Amino acid sequence: MCSIQEGDIENPIKKDKTEKSKVCMKCGGEAVLITRINDPLCRDCFMVYTTHKFRAAIGKSKIIRDGETVLVGFSGGQASSCLLQLIKDGLSERAHKKLRFKPSLLFIDEGAAIDMSAEERLDSCQKILQVMAKSGFPCHIRSLEEAMDSSFITTDSSKDSLASTELPDLDEQSQGQRSKNDLDTDRPKPAEKPKTNGLPIDKDFKEKCIHYDESEIKLKELLKSLKSVTAKEDLIKSLRYNILIDTARKHSHTKVMTGDCSTRLSVRLLSDISQGKGAHVAMETGFADKRLDDITVVRPIRDFSSKEVTLHNVLNDVESVFIPTLTTKAPQNTSIEHLTESFITGLQADYGSTVMNIMRTGEKLNTEILDSTEQQCIICHAPLDTSTGIASALNAVEFSQKISRKNDDKLSPECCGEGDGSCNTKSGRLNKEEALSTLCYGCRLMVKDLSDVNKLPEYIQRDITNRVNRSKMKADIQDYLLADD
Ligand SMILES: [Zn+2]
Ligand SMILES: [Zn+2]
Repeated sequence: MCSIQEGDIENPIKKDKTEKSKVCMKCGGEAVLITRINDPLCRDCFMVYTTHKFRAAIGKSKIIRDGETVLVGFSGGQASSCLLQLIKDGLSERAHKKLRFKPSLLFIDEGAAIDMSAEERLDSCQKILQVMAKSGFPCHIRSLEEAMDSSFITTDSSKDSLASTELPDLDEQSQGQRSKNDLDTDRPKPAEKPKTNGLPIDKDFKEKCIHYDESEIKLKELLKSLKSVTAKEDLIKSLRYNILIDTARKHSHTKVMTGDCSTRLSVRLLSDISQGKGAHVAMETGFADKRLDDITVVRPIRDFSSKEVTLHNVLNDVESVFIPTLTTKAPQNTSIEHLTESFITGLQADYGSTVMNIMRTGEKLNTEILDSTEQQCIICHAPLDTSTGIASALNAVEFSQKISRKNDDKLSPECCGEGDGSCNTKSGRLNKEEALSTLCYGCRLMVKDLSDVNKLPEYIQRDITNRVNRSKMKADIQDYLLADD
């Protein structure tokens, strides 16, 4: 039921570019910027405003406890640089009511996904490292292809850390120098140079590099086998999410912070809805994402618009690093997300309340959290939204897809006769139909785009096989079970 009242949403008044007040609305001093729709503020009042907004978001939620260690996802972009600066200011001794959590930073190198050369990857990692090291917080660097590694596990049991490297007291200069030497002398191919972190190259490390090369090839093949850019973006997003979670688990953090601002989130909200992921938008865009039992993802700057983020960074001389993405310089209709982004930013330029209205409408949505892991999507861990009624749109779509690929007998092989459901798993290969049954609607769309499900990262394949085998076993012994309602 729609609960929007009249006056709840501000009228979309087109911006008047001619008339702007030059007086700070708080102190009456000289205003240097206009924030929200038409609020002139001076520099000092703007800083008070942003600091308050950030701290109120953290304080109000009461999610982060004193002394807790928090993993902060750092991409080097404007929003995460702004978040890092706000955290630094909040933790500093001179802060009024000092924040008391302990952050550590994680940068995920996604160079492999966009075919960056070894030199470019090394260069961007070094730039990021320098920015991260200046904060004085512990830093980690991981790469996206690590998720393709056979030893990559995201379950709680994997406390042994091998992939990520801690850099507590980083000496930027020697760090950069040594990594560069590694590149020049040792490995011309894109191996994870920044991972050496100044350690001498020994046999073990070389083996690890070869390992990463394999993972990099696997990742590139997987991305290549996805037809649409939208599916590629989805996959990268989900691998990124899993690496964040995995790092948090390995270092026993229970909170992850991301620098998603409201402009970013409103793009995500609309593009998720247009891709049939409406059931999860509350998790994807809310302040706290509690889909996992052990780790909560929080978005402390979700009330900041991208304009406020940029203003904050300019006024504070905050450094940020530009890292290209899959759709940088691409035409606007390359992917659904890219198109949504240009739609929203175009609208926002003329109607200043666009993003705010999208976010406030999104806040009225809610996701039901289910307690059983059997009912979670294997890839994104959101509750499955696919157990709909027989007359649902989803069933109709599935039915027509089944009919149209009737001739493709590879998708539904006959039983080998053993009746234990081992026909498909015997060869160690996943069956697409079975894989789809363990996924939410949004992830199904992504996997349907894939030519071969066996290209998926091994941890996903393993989880799917386990889930499928378990549900087969459950079905087999169903008759002998006492009914539980
Ligand atoms: Zn002022
Ligand atoms: Zn999913």
